[in-house]
Amino acid sequence: MLLENKQVLITGGGSGIGRAAARRFIEEGASVHVVGNVAEALINTAAELGERCSWSECDVTRPEQIAAILDSLPPVDSLVCSAGISRQTPLEPGSDDAWQTVTDVNQWGTVHTCRAVGQRMIANKSGGSIVIISSILGSIAEAGSTGYAMTKAALNQLTRQLAVEWAPHKIRVNAVAPGAILTPMSFALGDNEWESEWFKRHFIAPDRPRIPLARPGKPEEVAEAILFLANPLNSYCTGQILTIDGGLTAKY
Ligand code: NAD
Repeated sequence: MLLENKQVLITGGGSGIGRAAARRFIEEGASVHVVGNVAEALINTAAELGERCSWSECDVTRPEQIAAILDSLPPVDSLVCSAGISRQTPLEPGSDDAWQTVTDVNQWGTVHTCRAVGQRMIANKSGGSIVIISSILGSIAEAGSTGYAMTKAALNQLTRQLAVEWAPHKIRVNAVAPGAILTPMSFALGDNEWESEWFKRHFIAPDRPRIPLARPGKPEEVAEAILFLANPLNSYCTGQILTIDGGLTAKY
């Protein structure tokens, strides 16, 4: 097993990509602590994943809550930052509140978590691994998503910055940039966006699909990439952003 006796912290671990990562890490022998802002999702996740999965309610925009959780846990070997929200955030006036919220959670929430975990890894001289969940919108554009996309671009740069700053402390920092993944987030606007007629027409039309693999991805397929980056055997990989999008951004 790849992660036997490793302690892992996963933000946003109560659902979607974070939950799939928790399941996969536990299969590889890790003990996983999932945190998020929806207690019911965390309780269900811990009940499903068994005794090596513990949980705490936590708002990642509140650094003191993150610190209290870390103080109650064994030292963390591996962090996955999957907490995030999606909001319509065009540049037009009127979206400033949504823009602020998405920045607070996606950008600042990830900064607070990385800082708290990284400082402890440095103090313990233990090294470790961090995997940040970015998005393909960190490097390509979609109308209406300017604020969200800017947070993901910031996370891509945070990944490279921390990889360089913390390399002397043997902390590897990488990111995964998912495309369209079937999770609760795909229901953000009501219906499942990735199962809508609009999505099917534009992205998986049989004659010339924009997504070469012609389907949305599953959270388990992103979890596999997270595990690849977190795996201590992957010891020379840092500062990288691994895109998991069925080939969408590779295609003209
Ligand atoms: P999700 O909604 O299932 O997961 C997001 C998690 O973040 C939830 O468990 C939620 O409780 C948690 N969260 C939200 N705000 C929080 C806060 N303030 N404090 C603590 N936890 C909070 O959706 P997902 O698709 O699994 O999203 C995980 C990550 O993947 C996000 O960062 C998202 O931006 C990114 N992503 C998703 C897709 C997609 O298509 N689903 C595509 C690209 C990137």
